[in-house]
Formats: sequence, structure tokens, C-alpha cells
Amino acid sequence: TPVTTTDLIEPRKICVCVRKRPLNKQEVTKKEIDVVSVPGKGTLLVHEPKHKVDLTKYLENQAFHFDFSFDESATNELVYKFTAQPLVQSIYDGGMATCFAYGQTGSGKTHTMGGDFTGKQQNSSKGIYALAARDIFTYLNHKTYTNLNLSVYVSFFEIYNGKVYDLLNKKTKLRVLEDDRQQVQVVGLEEVLVSSAEDVIKIIKIGSACRTSGQTSANANSSRSHAILQIILRHNDRATTLYGKFSLVDLAGNERGTDVSSNDRSTLVETAEINRSLLALKECIRSLGKNSDHIPFRMSTLTKVLRDSFIGEKSKTCMIAMVSPGMASCEYTMNTLRYADRVKEL
Ligand code: ADP
Ligand code: MG
Repeated sequence: TPVTTTDLIEPRKICVCVRKRPLNKQEVTKKEIDVVSVPGKGTLLVHEPKHKVDLTKYLENQAFHFDFSFDESATNELVYKFTAQPLVQSIYDGGMATCFAYGQTGSGKTHTMGGDFTGKQQNSSKGIYALAARDIFTYLNHKTYTNLNLSVYVSFFEIYNGKVYDLLNKKTKLRVLEDDRQQVQVVGLEEVLVSSAEDVIKIIKIGSACRTSGQTSANANSSRSHAILQIILRHNDRATTLYGKFSLVDLAGNERGTDVSSNDRSTLVETAEINRSLLALKECIRSLGKNSDHIPFRMSTLTKVLRDSFIGEKSKTCMIAMVSPGMASCEYTMNTLRYADRVKEL
């Protein structure tokens, strides 16, 4: 049976989940075969197409096991409940929480994180950004936490080709600096003080529009960049000291640059940079899991700006690996699942 709202969640340091999206209209029209199934709460099967020597196709089942597996019937609300929602508590305990959406372009990362605000109707589906914002304000206004005297701030930026661009300030390019205490700072990053979940949603809309604007060439499209939304808790003292931080990351598409038809140098550089950052991310999450002192965060800009997420007893991470169901995506799906498998707590 699939995951239901009554299932219990044990918050863990590293949680790795997988979400399968439904076949879309185009795929249905093309009679694309669905090769992914979710037979249980934590299991996902890929019926990998293989060619026999005589070229007749047969299917071979490959099983993967994660903390939770979501099939095509799962809503953003359900996915949220088992992934990012348990982490809200940890930022109120003064920790760093991080939630990653990982997968091939078109697998549902932005749908899961950002939801769908393009719909005309008022209650188009909310994503993890909006749902986390809702709960962060519920906690803030709860009597247990009012005496902490905290304020909520939001920043939203993009990493493209190893460079940081502020989505709340016209994609201004920003520098990343590390001081002698290894504290990493994005110099001049806009941090907006917010007083409600609605405020956060407004900012997400502004930032998301900024992210997809000015994309003239296919290469510069948003699937090649990481988008990072940070919801930050600060003490209301004069220094507005950092208390806790929730980073919600819509990662760049993980498809490899195996497309040799592209001789375009800038595309190759772009792909190499994405691969490097995703490799670095895997290594950093694994060191968090091992409580290791050595975190290879300098390997990429992505892991540099998320350095705080990989250290400390109170840091918690969740990764949602997104997969497309179609046979045509099988190779990418297998890559995604193998990566997610490596991220799992040891
Ligand atoms: P990505 O950000 O990984 O490139 P998107 O989130 O943009 O992928 O999803 C690609 C398309 O599939 C979008 O039109 C999106 O609305 C749709 N989609 C993705 N996941 C789901 C889902 N779980 N249910 C319904 N539609 C989905
Ligand atoms: Mg996307």
C-alpha cells in the first residue's frame, strides 16, 4: 500500500524519498509505457527495458528502497508531510534544515517545490515552499515560541555556472566570500523581512518570475540552474543574530551531457559545472550523515553557500528524488535512483 496521511514519521538526520509523476498528456498520446511502480511505502520498482541478443525486449525489475516512495497519486501536501514538514520543528530548535528536489528536467522538481501558481483559480496547488512558509508562521505565532522573539526573513537566489544571482534583486550577480572562520557569506544578498505566509508567497512569485525571465537561448533556461529559497529565523536583538534556517533547493536537471550532438562549448562547461555541484552535494550530505569533521563544501558554489546545512548536531536534510515514469526516461530514472541510493544514511 502507498504512503497515507496516517503513516507515522520519525524525523531523521537524512531522509531520502522518491516521487514518481504521472504520465503527461503528450506521453499518453505517444503511448509511452510506464516503467515505474510503487508497490509499497518505501519501495520503488523500475521495469527496466533490456535488449536480448535476439533483440526481443524483456523487462527486468529493479527494486530501490527509500524512506518513503510516492506514486503518481500523491499530492504535494502528502509529499510535504513526509519530507519538509518534519524539518520545521528543527529550525525552531535552532537548527539548519534543507530540502532538495533532485532529478531530470521535466520530472517534477519545480512542481513539487514551487507548486503551480500559473493556474487562474485561487487555490492552484501549493508546493513545498508555500506549505513550509505556512507552518513556519504557525510555529512563530504559537505560545511555545513567542518568547524566543524571532523574526522571519526570506532570500531567493539562483546558482548558474557556479555564479550566484539574486532573484529578489533583478538577478544581480553576487560574490561568495569565506572568512577566516570558514563562515560563508553571499555578499549583498537581499533578505526580505516577512510577516505572513502570504508575504512569502508574494516573494516566491516575484523570484520565480525573475528566474524564468530573460531566457533567450535554450541553454540559459532555468533547468540548468539551482534555485535556493531560504526562510531564515533571526533574533529580534540589535544584531539580528541567526537562529535557524530552512533552505529549499530546486536543483538543476541532473541529465548528463551524454548528448554528443552538442558541440557547444558553453553547454559542455555548463554541464560539467552541474555534474560537479551534484557530486559535491552527495559528498557533503554523506559527511553530514557520518558526522564527519571533513565536509568537502569547497568543491562547488552550491555546497559552499549551503555549508551550514552540512554541519552541526541539529542539521537535518531531506532529498526528494523525482522520476519520470516513461520508458524513454528510463536511463535518467536509473541515474537518479542510483544517486539517491548513495545519499541515504549509512
Ligand atoms: P522540473 O522542474 O523537474 O523540470 P516540472 O516541475 O516543471 O519539472 O514538471 C514538468 C511538467 O510536469 C510540468 O508541466 C508539471 O506541471 C508536470 N508535473 C510534474 N509533476 C507532476 C505531478 N506530480 N502531478 C502532475 N503534474 C506534474
Ligand atoms: Mg524546474
